[in-house]
Amino acid sequence: MDIKYSYAFSLLVPALLASLLLLVQSTRAEAQDRAAIVLGKNDADGDGRIARDEWKQNKSQFDAMDLNKDGYLSLDELRARFASGKGPSSPANPPVDGAAAGRMPGEVGRGALDDETFCGVGRFLKECPVESSFQRGLVETGLRPRFPDGLRCRDIDEHYAIDYTGNRGGKESYHGGIDMPAPFGTPILAVAAGTVVTKTVGENSWRGKEIIIRHSPEDTGLPMWIYTQYAHFDAMPAVEVGGRVKMGQELGPTGNSGQGKTPGVQSNKRRPAIHFAVWYSTQPQYAIASNQLKVIPVDGWWMDPNALYRGKPPFDTATLKALPEAEKKVSIPVMLEDGTTEPAGTKVVWPYACEKR
Ligand SMILES: [Zn+2]
Repeated sequence: MDIKYSYAFSLLVPALLASLLLLVQSTRAEAQDRAAIVLGKNDADGDGRIARDEWKQNKSQFDAMDLNKDGYLSLDELRARFASGKGPSSPANPPVDGAAAGRMPGEVGRGALDDETFCGVGRFLKECPVESSFQRGLVETGLRPRFPDGLRCRDIDEHYAIDYTGNRGGKESYHGGIDMPAPFGTPILAVAAGTVVTKTVGENSWRGKEIIIRHSPEDTGLPMWIYTQYAHFDAMPAVEVGGRVKMGQELGPTGNSGQGKTPGVQSNKRRPAIHFAVWYSTQPQYAIASNQLKVIPVDGWWMDPNALYRGKPPFDTATLKALPEAEKKVSIPVMLEDGTTEPAGTKVVWPYACEKR
């Protein structure tokens, strides 16, 4: 570690401690709110506790939460359960496929995230140092797309991990994805089969109307779990959270929703474009940061979206960056406007259809 780095780390430690403290506090507050909601829903006789026969769900879950074995769940017992990250399901959200109660398959609590991933991929706490996103792969690789001959495709105008400080009101920031400009209304396509995990209206975010899709290894043919983000839709996609999409399915129209360069001011001047981002992990679990519906995979990493189309490892930024220049041109599999793909049989396509010249 050189001197510049160790100096940076000496600044990092107090910042990380402060963000950890915030995390613990907000997780506690969230646990208390949810405990009160579950109590309110189940406490039929209104005595401020849940009797075993008032509990209409799994009785063994009840017994596990009844810490003092008095046959009642108190608010404190519910809070203890939620704070442990293993909350019970609410009747409105029954468990799905054995997933943690009330959550989507693979979804876990924020407590399952290590601090580096939480800060580096989540990026939403002011206290998270910009170095934590470098450590999780948000660094330029030099990869560039090469589209099939004879087709006109929508190219990148703002590349992965470029310095975005000027676009973020002077706060040091790096581009978490790639942008491809396209006319208003141009359909944005799901790049692979998958399951929608979040939809965000995003009135107060840079990203505007956006969705995030989770792709299993079977969905993509790649040996990891992949999350793709599509932002700045002109209108919110109709597909619901939990719904499955097919590769190449039209998600919604291109727009420029989200805040512009001046914080608090809606930008009408920004060109219509997709912001497209990719994260990955070898683990299937992910957490959702509830304040902004950010998806953070457990042991998650940023991926240069071009790497998704290489069809083979490596996918990590450091190795990609070190590739010989010739290997940094990535042949992009695409869908044509008639729904055929080039090459045939691909499981991953560019988020915009190409047209024949
Ligand atoms: Zn962007």
